[in-house]
Amino acid sequence: MLARPGLPRFEYVAARAPDEVIRLLTEHGDAARLMMGGTDLLVRMRDGAFRPALVIDVKGLPGMRDVAYGADGLRVGAAVTMNELARHPAVLAHYPLLAESANSVASYQLRNRATIGGNLCNASPCADTSPATLIFEGRIVLTGPDGERDVSAANFFTGPGRTLRQANEIVTAIRFPPPPPSGIGTYLKLGRNKKGDLALVSVAVFGYRDASAPSGVRFRIALGAVAPVVLRVPEAEAILAADPPGEAAFARAADAAMDAATPINDVRASAAYRDEMVHNLTLRGLRAVWNTLGKGA
Ligand SMILES: Cc1cc2nc3c(=O)[nH]c(=O)nc-3n(C[C@H](O)[C@H](O)[C@H](O)COP(=O)(O)OP(=O)(O)OC[C@H]3O[C@@H](n4cnc5c(N)ncnc54)[C@H](O)[C@@H]3O)c2cc1C
Repeated sequence: MLARPGLPRFEYVAARAPDEVIRLLTEHGDAARLMMGGTDLLVRMRDGAFRPALVIDVKGLPGMRDVAYGADGLRVGAAVTMNELARHPAVLAHYPLLAESANSVASYQLRNRATIGGNLCNASPCADTSPATLIFEGRIVLTGPDGERDVSAANFFTGPGRTLRQANEIVTAIRFPPPPPSGIGTYLKLGRNKKGDLALVSVAVFGYRDASAPSGVRFRIALGAVAPVVLRVPEAEAILAADPPGEAAFARAADAAMDAATPINDVRASAAYRDEMVHNLTLRGLRAVWNTLGKGA
């Protein structure tokens, strides 16, 4: 017997209109699954975790591959691939942290298939585009029988593999408001090797000048792979808005990030190691961002 038995039999539909997808989802219920790049879905199907009778490919729906930037911010079609995101001029100019995060996913070949929408819908706590999506206060656009609605990324994830998406909804885009001007960000991903591995711990740090903050700067911090969902750390962000930027404030913020993390022991790393790494990466990220941001004083 093969260790991995291969893909089970299933029907495949390349959908062309949202109405068609909503009708199929309504008719087939749990027996249907949506697909874009297939890099999560097909692996799960091969391993027997999912057994859909119908796979609905939604990457050909109108607008799903579009990226648009304007006064309202950025709108990224859900089926935009990691490589497209990582090299799009508007993303590089205004949301470089998002481009950096997309570029950290696995290999070049995988990034040609893997989409931002699939990464978010998969709702893994270690998904690489989730921390930047939280930091830029992204909103997940869902299309269903009653039209379009959007949900903040901070509320979208409800647990590992679970989101607020209803069974007959399609994630069609992610919207990002205009970012704070002159912000600096960094994405620190710790895997078992430098390239091509899922994050054991990831920390995204973003800082920008803001005269309304007592410290004159605000930082946003998001953690991946150390809780059931990707999370922001408001306690650390409050410390950094209040206290002058520097080693003392950074150390307190890193402590707060470690306190916010609730990692698990698994085959890839222990909870204690992950806790330590949250502290170290947060500290490293704050120093790196401040190293550039502080020079603009
Ligand atoms: C070898 C390998 C390495 C990987 N490395 C990384 C890594 O370093 N970092 C990382 O973050 N991920 C990694 N992944 C996971 C995966 O590649 C990413 O999560 C990817 O972005 C998923 O996108 P996709 O388009 O392939 O999603 P798909 O597999 O098509 O879909 C993912 C999930 O979303 C659902 N879905 C698809 N489209 C929609 C839609 N429009 N609306 C609602 N639900 C939908 C599917 O039913 C499925 O449950 C890796 C995977 C593999 C196989």
